[in-house]
Amino acid sequence: MSNIPYKIYLEESEMPKAWYNVRGDMKKKPAPILNPATLKPVTLDDLSGIFCRELAEQELDDTSRFIDIPEEIRNFYRMYRPSPLVRAYCLEEKLQTPAHIYYKFEGNNTSGSHKLNSAIAQAYYAKKQGLKGVTTETGAGQWGTALSMACSYFDLDCQVYMVKVSYEQKPFRREVMRTYGAKVTPSPSMETEVGRRINAEFPGTTGSLGCAISEAVEAATSQEGYRYVLGSVLSQVLLHQSVIGLETKAALDKYGIKADMIIGCAGGGSNLGGLISPFAGEILRGENQYEIIAVEPASCPSLTRGKYAYDFCDTGKVCPLQKMYTLGSGFIPSANHAGGLRYHGMSSVVSELYDQGIMTARSVEQTSVFEAAEMFARVEGILPAPESSHAIRVAIDEALKCKETGEEKNIVFGLTGTGYFDMVAYQKYNDGEMSDYVPTDEELQKSLNNLPKVD
Ligand SMILES: *Cc1c(COP(=O)(O)O)cnc(C)c1O
Repeated sequence: MSNIPYKIYLEESEMPKAWYNVRGDMKKKPAPILNPATLKPVTLDDLSGIFCRELAEQELDDTSRFIDIPEEIRNFYRMYRPSPLVRAYCLEEKLQTPAHIYYKFEGNNTSGSHKLNSAIAQAYYAKKQGLKGVTTETGAGQWGTALSMACSYFDLDCQVYMVKVSYEQKPFRREVMRTYGAKVTPSPSMETEVGRRINAEFPGTTGSLGCAISEAVEAATSQEGYRYVLGSVLSQVLLHQSVIGLETKAALDKYGIKADMIIGCAGGGSNLGGLISPFAGEILRGENQYEIIAVEPASCPSLTRGKYAYDFCDTGKVCPLQKMYTLGSGFIPSANHAGGLRYHGMSSVVSELYDQGIMTARSVEQTSVFEAAEMFARVEGILPAPESSHAIRVAIDEALKCKETGEEKNIVFGLTGTGYFDMVAYQKYNDGEMSDYVPTDEELQKSLNNLPKVD
């Protein structure tokens, strides 16, 4: 064994004091987001009707490199941060690889994922603005849980529209949210106009994230003192998630370790974007080179098979449009897809970095993801979230390549969360009943044909 401990912990005093905004170092910025009604770039006033004012400012700020983290947010971070960077000695041993594998573990809080990093920031700004509450959507439930925790901490009302299929399949997730005081409604519901419209158009639909977003936005804009908050995709969320990357960098620097490869799973792109931000910044400033890999499901392949175009962020087309890698806002992954990361688009920052060649992307099939999850759980102990296991899959593949070549690469990946609420998916895998579904080119084209015409 080397002198590097199994877990590299930072001191509380080493926790970041400012978030890092990678857009500040990008010469070519992500394209401006557009108002859905006018198709013109949104103004701060447009955005402030949906989001809290300071979050709207962060959304539009593509020049400040650092934004201070308010002390009230750092106080909350102290309850579960800094999170450990773990050297996966047992996995290396199992694989018999010369590679050194590290993972940044974000599952060490009740929400079970990195989403709390942004939830607490968004709840703080809502409270500071004097709002009564916030509305949001949740799919698998990690974001809704994180937001419920953050809202109870700041004494804010929290209304969660939960994708119906998850609401029915994950009753315990729902109860966790209710325990923290949130009101949870299955989506599409009959409580909003857009929900009633979607239910009429697609009778019996079990919902999608895009539908739930539209409902939550309507709920926020139709109630006095409410704003909408979103757990991924937006640039403000990626900004808050930069704590992951900043801590990772600090932990590596403490032991003089230079990462060669950084791997993250990509749904809407927030954990990946946060993890890689400081490293991408060094690439953009010409200071260092890293190989960065985004990993997505083969059944929802926005980076690897999508189109880089303006699209709606939600099915109901009420949110601003964003230029991003997208499969079309009407795309709904196959019902047998169990591994999360179901969003049709991708963060505009991640999309632009990918387009500039700062990172590459790979798609993986779900049975191989659960195979990696199982191997990881058996040797490293942590039961990973299916989402996180996409990154584990590629980290293992890369470590096995090193075995062939004899390279001692330093591989770092983001372990975004735990999978305790995903046991139905694990059960399918254990029973040998999980299958892979990869959409055909025709299916994707059909959805892409409905992209909005902009410019
Ligand atoms: C939400 C979630 C993701 C995907 O979201 P990103 O915005 O792409 O990071 C990944 N892992 C876990 C555990 C999640 O809860």
